Amino acid sequence: MDECIFCKIINGKVPSEKVFESENFITIKDINQHPEGHSLVIPKKHFESFINLPENLYQEFVEATKKSIWKLEEEYDFEGFNLALNNGKVAGQIVPHMHLHILPRKRGDNFRFV
Ligand code: AMP
Ligand code: ZN
Repeated sequence: MDECIFCKIINGKVPSEKVFESENFITIKDINQHPEGHSLVIPKKHFESFINLPENLYQEFVEATKKSIWKLEEEYDFEGFNLALNNGKVAGQIVPHMHLHILPRKRGDNFRFV
């Protein structure tokens, strides 16, 4: 997956701001900081869609997500969050390497979750 931007980040060829890391997942800040703290939980192996994530990684995926949110809570002041997983172009997936968006939310942030 030479051309995949997230594989390049995981291989250290492209810089990123790390929030959390476990054996099989990494969480980084999205370059689009809207809303503030917007982050992505990404499996280190290239799986295109959530449906391709092996079952033995489900628990670690959920744990990585929770621990990433706890980390973000140390840095940002937010009251809630959205989680979004876009699968397929039609669903808004631009990077074809599975990633879960963590979207921190606070009252009056004017963020429209589509
Ligand atoms: P999606 O539309 O679900 O595929 O989302 C892809 C996300 O990746 C977008 O929110 C982008 O802002 C983000 N993104 C693209 N390139 C980078 C990068 N080099 N570092 C961090 N986030 C990125
Ligand atoms: Zn990839």
